[in-house]
Amino acid sequence: MNEKRVAELVKELLKEIGEDPERDGLLKTPERVAKAWAYLTEGYHMDLDKVINNAVFEAEANNMIIARDIEVYSMCEHHMLPFFGRCHIGYIAQDKVLGVSKLARIADLFGRRVQIQERLTGQIARAVSDTLGAEGVGVVMECQHLCMMMRGVGKQNSVMTTSTVLGSFHNDPATRAEFLRLIGKH
Ligand code: ZN
Repeated sequence: MNEKRVAELVKELLKEIGEDPERDGLLKTPERVAKAWAYLTEGYHMDLDKVINNAVFEAEANNMIIARDIEVYSMCEHHMLPFFGRCHIGYIAQDKVLGVSKLARIADLFGRRVQIQERLTGQIARAVSDTLGAEGVGVVMECQHLCMMMRGVGKQNSVMTTSTVLGSFHNDPATRAEFLRLIGKH
């Protein structure tokens, strides 16, 4: 991302909405916004293998592993406004497990771009599945969307829930039910 170019565009945007980009409080705003967007869209330039960075460990038992309440931040691709919330990831390892902090990093990798919540949920699930060759993966995400909260009427507290289930989480109702129970959704 060319930050200088983005700063110029933000300056134009400020003019268009009726502001004076030369007034004191706004002088450095275009540069700040450009920096913020560079960070918020870092996911386009992150590499899954580098993010995982060999934090895949051998596991003996094939228990269900759950990571709850991973913070998620992203920008909706329809309005370029934030959506944010939590995601819960479960998987059954065949012989490999992943450090918990890496699950959060995977969520960042796909969250830091313009997104829709449904795709983000699926991308996280597939990344975990592909990285680990897991027997099954489940991801449930609960987010609030500022494009709904700030613009909509009476939608201030609505939380959107999306889920993706792969492998045994998809095929076996008992496995899926156990996952939902462990994340407190059943
Ligand atoms: Zn939106």
